[in-house]
Amino acid sequence: EAAIPLLHIDSLEVRFGAVRALKGVSMDVRQGEVVALVGANGAGKSTTLRTISGLSRPRSGSITFAGASIGGRPPPQIVRLGIAHSPEGRRLFGALTVAENLRLGACTRTDRAKIAADTERLFALFPILKQRWRQLAGTLSGGEQQQLALARALMAKPRLLLLDEPSLGVAPLLVRQIFDALGELKRQGVTMLLVEQNIKLALELADRAYVLRTGSVALSGSSAELRDSDRVAQAYLGAA
Ligand code: ATP
Repeated sequence: EAAIPLLHIDSLEVRFGAVRALKGVSMDVRQGEVVALVGANGAGKSTTLRTISGLSRPRSGSITFAGASIGGRPPPQIVRLGIAHSPEGRRLFGALTVAENLRLGACTRTDRAKIAADTERLFALFPILKQRWRQLAGTLSGGEQQQLALARALMAKPRLLLLDEPSLGVAPLLVRQIFDALGELKRQGVTMLLVEQNIKLALELADRAYVLRTGSVALSGSSAELRDSDRVAQAYLGAA
């Protein structure tokens, strides 16, 4: 049903020992939407993504994806349900080639002909990966690795793509290219939850955004609303 969001997070709490990383976060991502998660360092953005993909366990609250409760399930199950995570720091297999890394991204799929077709489409989106096909991932530049991480996540044909700081460690010119590619994916209908430090870029791409501050949602709204609002800066600084 169209009214039910693809991803629904309700009152999510995550703790690391005494650290309350998330203190009751609620958010929705609807099919076809790009939603940005912004906020200062340590606000809980990565923890939110990691908890959705099963890498951290919720202490309380719920995560519902496509009607299924997924909070606390093991990561492979969550991948199989259609959530792909392009993590911060990229986590590529540095000693494997670009080709091998991409093939691993498709390891939950068996439709070989479609995998080949998708690989070609990803080359159109990230031409550098075609040139670097046989090169070891560990020898790629930061921007190239970021593109490979994105392409690898897309090889799973996810229903939801979680992106953790695609601009991190990437030269400015390449950042623009990566965000152009994300814009193209958005036009193709890929649903994304995007963590991004660069709030200007995030709000350009996203339909809506949530501003996290010390483990809570301080502010949310459409990107257009938030772009024109000085409350975003206040939420970052802790004023408001
Ligand atoms: P950044 O942009 O710096 O990555 P963030 O908004 O993604 O920030 P998180 O990485 O989610 O923030 O961290 C939220 C809080 O949880 C921080 O106080 C962080 O120190 C803490 N934290 C995150 N992971 C762990 C962990 N594995 N063990 C202990 N504390 C953690």
